[in-house]
Amino acid sequence: MQKKQATTSAIKNIALVAHDNMKAELIEWADIHKEKLVSHKLLATGTTGNLLHKQLGVSVTPLISGPLGGDQQLGGMIAEGKIDVLIFFWDPFEPMPHDPDIKALLRVAAVWNIPIACSVSSANFLISSPLLASEYERAVPDYDAYLAARIDD
Ligand code: PGA
Repeated sequence: MQKKQATTSAIKNIALVAHDNMKAELIEWADIHKEKLVSHKLLATGTTGNLLHKQLGVSVTPLISGPLGGDQQLGGMIAEGKIDVLIFFWDPFEPMPHDPDIKALLRVAAVWNIPIACSVSSANFLISSPLLASEYERAVPDYDAYLAARIDD
């Protein structure tokens, strides 16, 4: 896959998602890092976003709830370059009805090379990185080159 550089701005679009058994952990983590988080643009799947708004008073752009397609919505937004960081506390102990969507979300996040944190410690590393508050150049698939190569086939 041919790559090109894409600039991520200093103010990031941060998506937050937590499965039901992980929501308390995510809210606690977000509360600790609230000051840093609110300097960015926050988005979250339905229930996670509602909890963040109600319990922490932060402004969050709500997406569809995960089991109803929110993970796929988020995956689409990542492919469109609308999400810069994914904080995704998925539940390692429970199978989910939307397991295929979860796998797809993690795959698309890897394709588009966005930073992902799936646990409190990885989220701590991510939130304390100086890159979070500065512009960042990341390699992404070169879509024009990809299309051109396919059309030339
Ligand atoms: P929710 O979705 O925030 O609406 O609970 C998260 C998920 O289950 O993927």
